Amino acid sequence: MDFRLTPEQEQLVAAATRLATDRFAPRAFTWSSFPWENAKILAEAGFTGITIPASDGGQGGSLLDAVLVMEAVSKVCPHSGDAVQATNFGAIRQVAAFGSDRVKREVLPALLGGEALVSVGMSEPEAGSALTELTTAARYDGDDVVLNGQKVWNSHGPEVTHVVVWCRFGPRTRDIGAVVVPVDTPGFTRGPAERYMSGEQHCALYLDGCRVPGEYVLADSDALRRMMTIFGVERVGNAVRALALAQAAFDQAVEHAKVRKQFGRRLCEFQGIQWKFADMRMQLDAARMLVYRAACNADQTGVPDPAEVSVAKAYANEAAFMVTNQALQVFGASGYSTEFPLEYLARRVRGWMIAGGSVEMQRNRIAEAVFGERFSQRAPEPSTS
Ligand SMILES: Cc1cc2nc3c(=O)[nH]c(=O)nc-3n(C[C@H](O)[C@H](O)[C@H](O)COP(=O)(O)OP(=O)(O)OC[C@H]3O[C@@H](n4cnc5c(N)ncnc54)[C@H](O)[C@@H]3O)c2cc1C
Repeated sequence: MDFRLTPEQEQLVAAATRLATDRFAPRAFTWSSFPWENAKILAEAGFTGITIPASDGGQGGSLLDAVLVMEAVSKVCPHSGDAVQATNFGAIRQVAAFGSDRVKREVLPALLGGEALVSVGMSEPEAGSALTELTTAARYDGDDVVLNGQKVWNSHGPEVTHVVVWCRFGPRTRDIGAVVVPVDTPGFTRGPAERYMSGEQHCALYLDGCRVPGEYVLADSDALRRMMTIFGVERVGNAVRALALAQAAFDQAVEHAKVRKQFGRRLCEFQGIQWKFADMRMQLDAARMLVYRAACNADQTGVPDPAEVSVAKAYANEAAFMVTNQALQVFGASGYSTEFPLEYLARRVRGWMIAGGSVEMQRNRIAEAVFGERFSQRAPEPSTS
């Protein structure tokens, strides 16, 4: 076990930091929509599809490489982290892992080039944490598949070009699968653009007799476990972004505490402030190690371990919430002002405690690993006796 990065990984971090500082920093914190031009810059720099095999147009790198790039970029420009997420960790991984030759030919190159954007359509009005209650239906019709249903909370929904729609091909849990749907497919419509508390856009999606080629089906049976395992990569992305934004807030607060004076002393001379920083540092270190562990072990075994991912995500989400909140406090009123980035960092990390599976659902998963037992969350069937 060696906790230091290799020289190659150090170089990767330096290259990603340089790119973010030179190209993304000037517009950081000003985006109100998906940063398309930064996605293209990432593609040109070889920072998209980092974990996707070179044979599919990716970089053939490791999940830890992707994590390091995400951390470096998001620290400088959180919105550019959206582009790193979309082109490395999000639904693109489902497309790369399960896509047919046709999907890899027709959809994947544009996603990797930053010219197209895919989101995941999992959540429905009655299926949030209880994902397996999703009702969006898929049925084969000749060479096509036809979809009917509704999705909600779709991140960047107003701007995406494709959606990986999680749907069911039959009544059983084992019938849950996924289909890639281009947004220009007849029968596909979007609800009005709405915004999360962080300002990011989302919208509802409607599928009304939406017909796509059967080759756009990613999975149609016995796939939920495999799909969730790949979704673990999305959760690693979520966790490292939370970590990166918290680190950014921490770094700014350190600099502020070194210069801001009250009572004739710098803030960093007050023990009450020092202990805040000690607590923040402990949380950041622990979160980083858990995220890196989940990524490194995924690189060894080929897939992320679901329990390690849940530990990393829940811990990093809550650490980021705590750290950004304390960093904001150190800035006093300027931390709470919209003129400075602290309040955005605090608002942004809050959402990741819910997105990608809430911290409570991660705890359910961790408890199953602890006890080596699966605990159904469903209400017991009413007794017939
Ligand atoms: C920023 C953001 C981005 C998102 N992006 C997307 C996206 O791109 N695509 C998409 O499909 N969805 C997306 N979502 C939706 C997200 O996946 C859901 O919000 C999440 O799964 C929780 O579902 P829910 O909101 O319906 O809450 P509910 O499932 O109604 O849960 C409400 C509360 O109850 C808790 N709870 C529920 N069941 C249990 C249980 N068994 N044990 C303990 N606690 C429980 C939850 O943890 C939560 O705190 C996004 C959400 C956010 C906030």
